[in-house]
Amino acid sequence: SVTEKSPKLRAALDGIPTYKPGKPAAAGGPLAFKLSSNENPYPPLAGVLETAANAAASFNRYPDLACTALIAELASRFDVPLEHLATGTGSVGVAQQLVQSTAGPGDEVIYAWRSFEAYPIITQIAGATSVRVPLNDAEEHDLEAMADAITDRTRLIFVCNPNNPTSTVVRREALERFLDRVPSDVLVVLDEAYIEFIRDERVPNGIDLYRDRPNVCVLRTFSKAYGLAGLRVGFAIAHEPVAAALRKTAVPFGVSQLAQDAAVASLRSEDALRERVDALVTERGRVWDALTAQGWTVPDSQANFVWLRLGERTADFAAVCETAGVVVRPFPGEGVRVTIGEREANEIFLRTAEEYRKEL
Ligand code: PMP
Repeated sequence: SVTEKSPKLRAALDGIPTYKPGKPAAAGGPLAFKLSSNENPYPPLAGVLETAANAAASFNRYPDLACTALIAELASRFDVPLEHLATGTGSVGVAQQLVQSTAGPGDEVIYAWRSFEAYPIITQIAGATSVRVPLNDAEEHDLEAMADAITDRTRLIFVCNPNNPTSTVVRREALERFLDRVPSDVLVVLDEAYIEFIRDERVPNGIDLYRDRPNVCVLRTFSKAYGLAGLRVGFAIAHEPVAAALRKTAVPFGVSQLAQDAAVASLRSEDALRERVDALVTERGRVWDALTAQGWTVPDSQANFVWLRLGERTADFAAVCETAGVVVRPFPGEGVRVTIGEREANEIFLRTAEEYRKEL
């Protein structure tokens, strides 16, 4: 008799959690707002919709594999050589390529914890070992401890600046001191998904740090400030040979023509972008002030979200928010991350937080 066997899968995949998206806001009716995925509440910038209609006419064709126009636009925007740019399917796609390019079984990838939940997943998929360094009491990266965690197996270090989900930042001096301690054959990835929302001038722009450090790579996305989360386009700026490795590990045609064209159109709408980001930053300040006045301890946020450490009450608070009409992102046992959304959504959240606080 024939014994049925399932295909052999890599043991490295055992126990990898499936990536969990922020919960959609469908169930709650017309008043349900989604504040669970750090998305931009504004529709795409001017020019994107016309671009989309044009791109639709070529959906029978493959996109430009090299993302020529987008890369040229980025190179001139950031004053970096064309060869130092690599695009990918969202910055999470590029992050996965970076791990695949540097680490395999027996190798170590260091990151702070808690941080972006894709880091452990993409590390494990590569068969590499995660080394998680706890955030300090202020919910910030402990860069000294991260440097202490480096071994001769370390291949890549993620520094998430600002950090998802705690919204905290690492500042220039501390980051430079850290980079000075990292051996030149270990890649440091500065994940700057939320950089456009930073207003603290002590936070460096990763591109300034990358210029004379061949082991520093900057990771950016069009998903947050640019409001193109649904199109999946991110990019890295890195010296050769890291940028070359990213071109090898890319899924061929992984950035659609629609995504490329929309990203270019968005880069050309810089004034409108700035206005929207400024409005979200103002709204973030208002939310932070209100929460603090209500008695919550909230880390200073340099991103488009705030972090409330609720410990055991996390799931309860998230459920109460949902009933009130806003979906937030619970990290069970730790806290909730709440995206700064449209004013009405933020208002509902603030009222809910105020009521909840009174009952604590
Ligand atoms: N990095 C960080 C820190 C993030 O929070 C996210 C999105 N949650 C990403 C990368 C990935 O974003 P995307 O793939 O949409 O570019």
